[in-house]
Amino acid sequence: GKPPYDDNNIFAKILRGDIPCRKVYEDEFALAFHDINPQAPHHILVIPKGRYVAFADFAATAPEAEITGFIRAIGHVAHMLGFEDTGYRLLANMGPDSHQEVPHLHVHLFAGRPLGPMLV
Ligand code: 5GP
Repeated sequence: GKPPYDDNNIFAKILRGDIPCRKVYEDEFALAFHDINPQAPHHILVIPKGRYVAFADFAATAPEAEITGFIRAIGHVAHMLGFEDTGYRLLANMGPDSHQEVPHLHVHLFAGRPLGPMLV
């Protein structure tokens, strides 16, 4: 079933401004900021502003404007930072088998070096 949303998760706190982040981009629907433990020269997290834990819930229940806004924000960050020529990788973990650590939907954007083959 739908996982419950925890308003005390770390990204909820970032969205509220309770803890700081290194902001890359923000609009009505999404926030992008640098990952605190970067795995590539550029490692950015893009999150929707709404309270969603996982993709299935987001895709099934979010208003279309939020879905469009989130996807556009990811593309905008890639474009804005000039990753379209050299390339980049998007990755999103969902649930226990994926080792999702933060229960607020997020997409990782990796860029800035050859990333190698996708591991899984
Ligand atoms: P997950 O494993 O849930 O897909 O990824 C969570 C990501 O959030 C990890 O890459 C981790 O480094 C990052 N992260 C965890 N806590 C914080 C924080 O307080 N600030 C920022 N900017 N990133 C965080």
